Amino acid sequence: MTTPGEASPRIDVFRFIEAGNVCSGKVSIARLERLFDRLPETVDPAEAGTLDWQVRGLHDGLGHPALEIAVEGTFPLVCQRCLQPLSWPVAQRTVVLVARTPEALAELDDEVEQEVILGSNSLEVLALVEDELLLSLPFAPKHEVDCGGGA
Ligand SMILES: [Zn+2]
Repeated sequence: MTTPGEASPRIDVFRFIEAGNVCSGKVSIARLERLFDRLPETVDPAEAGTLDWQVRGLHDGLGHPALEIAVEGTFPLVCQRCLQPLSWPVAQRTVVLVARTPEALAELDDEVEQEVILGSNSLEVLALVEDELLLSLPFAPKHEVDCGGGA
């Protein structure tokens, strides 16, 4: 009964990075519950569409294990000028460092500007994608054209 490409894969993150693996798929916005309060009231999450995502294992310039998380598609937000729905183009690409222990995470966090996450052997990929979207969607999106203020 699961839709192809809709699985929520889990990865053994350090093996994934060592192998330079890539995984990708599509995710329905309906599955990204932490983003529901960004949707316009008139948009049913079940009809909000899907986003393409990709996660790739790599090492940064200093040899730290890292994941590149990419998300693309369109996310319905609310225009903060006219309060009408706005199709926001998403084209996000972020590299996060992966720490092996909470101590290493705290240390890296002090050292680098980038986001650092704690690795595990069963990391839920879509949770990463959801995190990146939460960080990347603007809090005060506006239509490009002058959509409000009188007339
Ligand atoms: Zn507007």
